[in-house]
Amino acid sequence: MLWRFQYELLIFEGIFIIYRKIGINLQNAKISELPHFMQNDLNLFTELVELLISEEKNNPVATPIDTNKLYSTLDLQLNDEPSIDKDFISTLKDIIKSTPKTASTSFFNQLFGGRIGRATLGDLLAVMLNNSMYTYKVAGPQVGIEKIILRTICDMIKYPESADGTFAPGGSMSNYMAVLMARDKYNPLARTKGISNTMTLYTSEVSHYSIAKNASFIGVGRHQVRTVKTNLKGEMLVEDLDAKISKDIENGYQPFFVNATAGTTVLGAFDNVEAISKVCKKHDVWLHLDGAYCGAVIFSDTYKHLVKGIEHTDSFSVNAHKMLGTPLSCSIIVTKDKKHLYESFSNEAEYLYQTNDDDFNLGKTSLQCGRRNDALKLWTLWKSVGSKGLKTIVDHQFKLAEIARNYINNHPDYTLYSFENSISVCFNYKNISAKTLCTSLYEASRLMVGFGNFKDQNFVRMVTINTVLKEKDILNFFKTIENFASSTDL
Ligand SMILES: *Cc1c(COP(=O)(O)O)cnc(C)c1O
Repeated sequence: MLWRFQYELLIFEGIFIIYRKIGINLQNAKISELPHFMQNDLNLFTELVELLISEEKNNPVATPIDTNKLYSTLDLQLNDEPSIDKDFISTLKDIIKSTPKTASTSFFNQLFGGRIGRATLGDLLAVMLNNSMYTYKVAGPQVGIEKIILRTICDMIKYPESADGTFAPGGSMSNYMAVLMARDKYNPLARTKGISNTMTLYTSEVSHYSIAKNASFIGVGRHQVRTVKTNLKGEMLVEDLDAKISKDIENGYQPFFVNATAGTTVLGAFDNVEAISKVCKKHDVWLHLDGAYCGAVIFSDTYKHLVKGIEHTDSFSVNAHKMLGTPLSCSIIVTKDKKHLYESFSNEAEYLYQTNDDDFNLGKTSLQCGRRNDALKLWTLWKSVGSKGLKTIVDHQFKLAEIARNYINNHPDYTLYSFENSISVCFNYKNISAKTLCTSLYEASRLMVGFGNFKDQNFVRMVTINTVLKEKDILNFFKTIENFASSTDL
């Protein structure tokens, strides 16, 4: 009891000091009055967000701070003494000003960006509610929200009733869950005794690097990843896949998993799911479709043909925080038969599962134990705009990419490297090296855009995924590059 009393006293003292420093007269403050802090912090939050939004508009590319000057520029140090409110708030403001603005119209750098109010609202609520998604007892209707999203996606891709899924902490982890389920299906002893034979997996040479990392995580090993060749558009060569699997079987290996990609990370290419699924069926291996980047085409009647044959896959993953524009992170993995989720991820835990309804105790099918609520932000978005609204979001990105490609094709100073039906627009301007151009634009606070390469060619990769972009922002992007290049000596 004594330690507890001392502990409370210590907290009480701490709070009292803070109260005094912010100038509130709270001589009779009790721990039970702590929630009042929340109201102050919500007011502060509004003030800070207003600053952020005005910065996004007025300084869309934050001035970068050199890493070796970071700690001398911003007061990031943690000290024994509390920070007085005035300093604390002004430090927060400095940090906000210097943080890269991913929701500005100058952000083309990554496979996410922008901000959709209704999705952000859901995430803010999830933070306030602070549930853990492992049991119905603790998360209540939030479990229903997660389940309805998963069910609807399974239905959309024509998976059977037996299908189910979960939310993973990102696309890499969704891919991890897929390959782990496949390992356990084809090598059930792996769960208890580990792996003794050599299992092999297949993915295209331009697929995401998480495939190789995950091969190492699951104990199969990076050297067992076979990289399948691609055509000029970056799509997996199905004949090469078939040949590689056959050769491995001949040599006594156990092929067990093929990863196809819906939207490769650099070019945004779509592997031919239908053709790949036939090869997988022939050799009896698991087919996963990594749709982290562009799997959200399932929401568009216009573009879902790009994942034709998706119903023949064993698992499918999609990041709502990429094309659908929810805040990071929101990654979904579904599989055709939920028994694989249970077999690979469930564990008895009496201290946790104290009510019986397993279908609603999501901890039995997730990677983590405590798990944040990533479903609510997608649900608030989806519920408010409808599936039709999600289609509009997806279609808009393809439209912007087309505008960008047309611009490039009509301007002889540019060379285009990417293709139709992709929201990655890859190009070079004059003879300027892509790396030099992107880095100089960033250092001069003009644009955030990255570069990539494919078949030994380097280029700028502009991504039209940012949900706030309009046609004029695309044109402005090119004008900015042209003006910048002519005013500097690149
Ligand atoms: C982004 C991406 C991933 C990884 O997703 P994270 O959420 O960043 O872990 C995996 N695969 C592809 C094709 C991607 O584009």
